[in-house]
Amino acid sequence: MNEYSILLTGGAGFIGHHFIHHRLRGTEDRIVNLDALTYAGDLESLKELENSPRYTFVEGDINNRELVDDLIRQFNINLIVHFAAESHVDRSIASASTFIHTNVAGTQVLLDVAREHGVRFIHISTDEVYGSLGKTGSFTEESPLAPRSPYAASKAASDCLVLACHHTFGLPVNVTRCTNNYGPRQFPEKFIPKMIIQALRGHSLSIYGTGENVRDWIHVHDHCTAIDAVIEKGIAGEVYNIGSSNERKNLEIARFILEELELDENRITYVDDRPGHDYRYSLDSDKIRNELGWAPRYEFEPALKKAIRWYKEHRPWWEYVLKRGVGL
Ligand code: NAD
Repeated sequence: MNEYSILLTGGAGFIGHHFIHHRLRGTEDRIVNLDALTYAGDLESLKELENSPRYTFVEGDINNRELVDDLIRQFNINLIVHFAAESHVDRSIASASTFIHTNVAGTQVLLDVAREHGVRFIHISTDEVYGSLGKTGSFTEESPLAPRSPYAASKAASDCLVLACHHTFGLPVNVTRCTNNYGPRQFPEKFIPKMIIQALRGHSLSIYGTGENVRDWIHVHDHCTAIDAVIEKGIAGEVYNIGSSNERKNLEIARFILEELELDENRITYVDDRPGHDYRYSLDSDKIRNELGWAPRYEFEPALKKAIRWYKEHRPWWEYVLKRGVGL
């Protein structure tokens, strides 16, 4: 495995912090974590790395070009892994401007600096850029982009900017598009932790619409190993879908969580649907499996049970996050 000096953005968030732990455990890489510590950023989960000589945290906005430039010079960065984003669809419906600031403008700032220094760029994106599916079919990397929420539109725009930088200027880039992640320490506003925490607090589990919407779930550690595969073997300019083929209706997940916590199904309540709520996401991830040799390791139900246990046993973590002002 090659050694990298990585500028990782958004490492105080859910997937980024898992990737930092995973990568420092499995490689000799050095990681500089640039994160603006928005409402979604949490340094608690990185505390044990504070004294690691291979890890540096820098608080800052990816839009700060001078700072990004300094970090690339100072730490001899040879790879950028870009996780930082505004990532919650509901927030993008309430107000899209921060999504444009970070997801679109911020990505372009990083690309400009990467290009100046010739630094390879891996952009972490989402299946939501492809839009919504009916009951059958899956999106491949060739499917047209058809984002339907402001969040998805901002990610699609950033994907296009990253690929344009490859086609126009030859910057070695990859775009990864992953399905919905789950696992420990996910911010409580996201679907799975929200359902678990509502159940653990004795509240109703509020489901949008009829709960029939389908998402394809992947354990966050499987997402991390897929990014490893792209770092090690990804071909410049290519897009890789990352999925685990665990399609479940939201209602099925809520029922599973209640059953696991030995609570009654009548705790589910149905609330007004999210405007423009995408019905189904599904990815064909044959390309990363066949060409880069990646495969997911986590089975959905046992791993979800383990995640439920984690939230049950780490009440102080989510109570502290809720105190910082997330309404559930
Ligand atoms: P998250 O919301 O948990 O974390 C985002 C992090 O980015 C936070 O630490 C935040 O402080 C930081 N950040 C936000 N704006 C910033 C800025 N302007 N400058 C620097 N840092 C900033 O997100 P996540 O769920 O960990 O997702 C990470 C990436 O993966 C995102 O790009 C998201 O689109 C993508 N993704 C997420 C999922 C999922 O299920 N969560 C699935 C597919 C793709």
